[in-house]
Amino acid sequence: MVRRRFLAIFVVVLLNAGGAQTALASDSTTADRIAQRLLTRGLRDSRAYDLLRELTTIAPHRLSGSRGAAVALELTGEMLRRVGATNVRAESLMVPHWERGALEKGEVWLSGRSSPLPLSVCALGGSIATPRKGIVAEVIEVKSLEEASHLGPKANGKIVFYNRPMDPTLFETFAAYGGAVDQRGGGAVAAAQAGGVAALVRSITLAHDRVPHTGAMGYRDGVPKVPAAALSTVDADTLSALLRRDPHLKVRLELSCRSLPDAPSANVMGEIIGSEHPEEIIVVGGHIDCWDKGDGAHDDGAGCVQAIEVLRLFRELGIRPKRTIRTVMFMNEENGSRGGKAYATHPDRARERHVAAIESDRGGFAPRGFTVQGDSVLFERVMKWQSAFAALGADHITRGHGGVDIGPIVEKEAPGFGLVVENHRYFDYHHSGNDTLDKVNPRELELGAIAMAMLCYCLSEM
Ligand SMILES: [Zn+2]
Repeated sequence: MVRRRFLAIFVVVLLNAGGAQTALASDSTTADRIAQRLLTRGLRDSRAYDLLRELTTIAPHRLSGSRGAAVALELTGEMLRRVGATNVRAESLMVPHWERGALEKGEVWLSGRSSPLPLSVCALGGSIATPRKGIVAEVIEVKSLEEASHLGPKANGKIVFYNRPMDPTLFETFAAYGGAVDQRGGGAVAAAQAGGVAALVRSITLAHDRVPHTGAMGYRDGVPKVPAAALSTVDADTLSALLRRDPHLKVRLELSCRSLPDAPSANVMGEIIGSEHPEEIIVVGGHIDCWDKGDGAHDDGAGCVQAIEVLRLFRELGIRPKRTIRTVMFMNEENGSRGGKAYATHPDRARERHVAAIESDRGGFAPRGFTVQGDSVLFERVMKWQSAFAALGADHITRGHGGVDIGPIVEKEAPGFGLVVENHRYFDYHHSGNDTLDKVNPRELELGAIAMAMLCYCLSEM
């Protein structure tokens, strides 16, 4: 830091002949100073983790339409009031309502054996149940939806088993996830089209363990609905090996999940009103819903508490932004994205102008930088703040998608920003029973909040 500040002063002196350049240099000095204040205060208090502990203790299960989701909305509204946010309110919307049910069980019956081997499975979100007595069928393994579509009569009456892993050679785990997740989303439709009776999908994770990872799946009009379940990676490898030795083995699958009518829910928000342009809004948020297997600590309790912590840091440091900073808890990112859509189309948006939208939904890991979804003029402006973000370890700024929840408001009017974090462990926990508070590092979580606060500050003052 000392060296950077010396450099900034040197630049001011060097450029003193040109007025505009002098302003730029002193702006970056101010930004460096604000970054340092945010850093010191945030790391000293470490409040984001306290908020996350509270959220995951009081409302661990927050799937859309659930009791836990309603409790989480109340609780985060209270947290916003506690940190001094004004205009704390809920904007209502309807959400899909799916329940896992008590029963999810898988087992392998090898030919000639009288007792089964257990399989670690869980229903995929949106799946129908199996018949009450379960499904017992032979299994056919494929590596892609494409391969399933060419199975022909071989798939008739069988469970279609999708077993293409995430590509471990890709540095970006989000790219590896994107390259495998079609099996989860489209596996049931492709299985039914091939004449299969269920879809069993290798968990979309790089972790090698016995924990299944859930996530959204879909059906298509005109295609019969078949149940769909995730299988842990260890069990997927075991099943694949067993199939090579015993191609006529059978799997028994029992699921008791169900879809209920849409349920009332809301997005919750609160703000610090801008001192000069109150009608100009900078949205910062995460999604408050989460899958029901874990506590949604990384996905996306982290993003929610970081967005609340942004407001607390501004309040504690007495920083009054020129533009309004609004923290939003978006509902239903996981299985419908209705919160993001409802936010962008709410009648109140007609009286407002959004100048930016920031989302944190990649886990509460150490920040590395931001994606910027906007034009090249904006990108160049953001790059001028890079040195201030370097002090936070978050200066890797690239062009890219901002996030799912802010997607609709970005499409409508605002540039989008996505917090980019160290990404190698996220999918180990994502959508599984392992996404719990103990997997979150308080310091890394707080640094993400600090980086978001810094971005809010820069966007507010520009
Ligand atoms: Zn998420």
